[in-house]
Amino acid sequence: MRDELHNEIDTPAGKGSHSVTAKKTGEQRNRIIDGTDKDEIFYHYAKSESERAIIDRVMEKYPARITTFLKSLMEKSEFIRKQYLPSPKEIETIGTPTPFEEGKHSSKTHGLERLYRDRVLMTPHFDCPAYCRFCYKKSRVMRGKRGMTFEEIDQSVSEVGQMDSVRGVLVTGGDPMMNPEKLFYLLDRVMELNNIFEIRVGTRCLLTRPEIFTDEICDRLASYTRPCFTNPAKSKYLAINVHFNHPDELAPEVIEACHKLTSRGITLRNQTVLLKGINDNVDTAKTLFSLLLRNNMIPYYFNHCMPVEGADHLRTTVQKGLDIYKHLCTESSTIIPNYVYAPSGGKVHVGPDTVLNYEKQNGYNLIKIKMLYKAEEFSQIAKKPLPPMHEVTEDGYIQGMYIDGQDD
Ligand code: SF4
Repeated sequence: MRDELHNEIDTPAGKGSHSVTAKKTGEQRNRIIDGTDKDEIFYHYAKSESERAIIDRVMEKYPARITTFLKSLMEKSEFIRKQYLPSPKEIETIGTPTPFEEGKHSSKTHGLERLYRDRVLMTPHFDCPAYCRFCYKKSRVMRGKRGMTFEEIDQSVSEVGQMDSVRGVLVTGGDPMMNPEKLFYLLDRVMELNNIFEIRVGTRCLLTRPEIFTDEICDRLASYTRPCFTNPAKSKYLAINVHFNHPDELAPEVIEACHKLTSRGITLRNQTVLLKGINDNVDTAKTLFSLLLRNNMIPYYFNHCMPVEGADHLRTTVQKGLDIYKHLCTESSTIIPNYVYAPSGGKVHVGPDTVLNYEKQNGYNLIKIKMLYKAEEFSQIAKKPLPPMHEVTEDGYIQGMYIDGQDD
């Protein structure tokens, strides 16, 4: 189902491609290209006819989608191609469909989830304009799952207003910028809540659809940051979580869109996923984080690629990321993001002195970790048992297992 998509994206009859609205006159329209369009670019990693057939099977299981703007970047960069084009290697995998559970399904209202004690997650739109092959949410992002209705947004906001310890809302997806009108409706309602001060919107549209960041849209996003000069405890802000993995993604159109936001006082925090053959070396990571900083974006998270199905070929070991991270720690602290990996029960921060604790099980290389979260708190918030491969320690904390990646 592509319910909200139709509000913004025309669907030419009988074709799988969709025109994305670009407001600048005379500009070539940025369109979505689905794998079903059989565009040749999707077969880039097929070396033979049999591999083309495997890629067809891969795309049936994990759909492929890009935008024409992204395609223009891919034509110049192998590092962007690897993130979006299906590989025959995806057909065999040890990954799981839902590697990250956190507090999922903790509300009966579709699209509302309680993550931790102090923040909730709202998903107004479950789809994305382009599908990253390593997406840990691929079981729902690529499945045409319907977005929240306006009634569900109202219901969610009313529930969040009753949650005493919650002070932040993370608006995520899919990509909430797929439907700015619905996003603004949600933000308007959330801003009315007396208990919510911190709003974060996660989007990769700055890379996939930079043209949608018009002056009008950016002004509207900036309007949700409302400082209170007389009582800073009452200040509210909206920040945007962006997602860049390689310096090649920082094209002029992308930087211009980012600048439209930062020049209006919106904080951009970047989350990078560590990806094999893309950014798993010190030079690339250092260059990326330096360029982000130079363009007013904060290197925020450096995420180890989760063990989601179909992404094994893009996963390094956690130790490889740690080795890169140690090098970064010798630089100015402004370019050091938080390096994390995430067992199903929650994120684990890795420091330069971290020693990883391994265990072998059923041929898997697992990292065993005692987490910072108490099992009792998890069940109170998530209202469900601990995820598989997690147990409770004698002192009541969650102990999780994380499937490590492989280095070549
Ligand atoms: S932008 Fe995020 S949610 Fe969308 S496909 Fe990529 S990783 Fe998944």
